Amino acid sequence: MLLEHQCAFVNYTKKEDCERAIQAFNGMVVEGAPLSVRYPSKGAGFGPGLYKKECFFWRTTGCTRQDCTYRHIPEHKNIDKDKFTSRLAHINM
Ligand SMILES: [Zn+2]
Repeated sequence: MLLEHQCAFVNYTKKEDCERAIQAFNGMVVEGAPLSVRYPSKGAGFGPGLYKKECFFWRTTGCTRQDCTYRHIPEHKNIDKDKFTSRLAHINM
């Protein structure tokens, strides 16, 4: 929730949940300000890639495959790297 922008981003894993949320919150008035809920105008995880599994390597050590069939979400790049490397360190002990 970015209050200064009066804007919030919500990620749903299921399209049905997302649609339900749009129906529930769209047009709702919160503290005098009507909410406008809609899909992101372009990209942002929706579209054909929606149901694809996220790329494990993208989230950990980095994925360099041009033809990778898994999702590469920019915000998730290397997000699990610490978890992944600490797990490896644990195994090595
Ligand atoms: Zn990948």
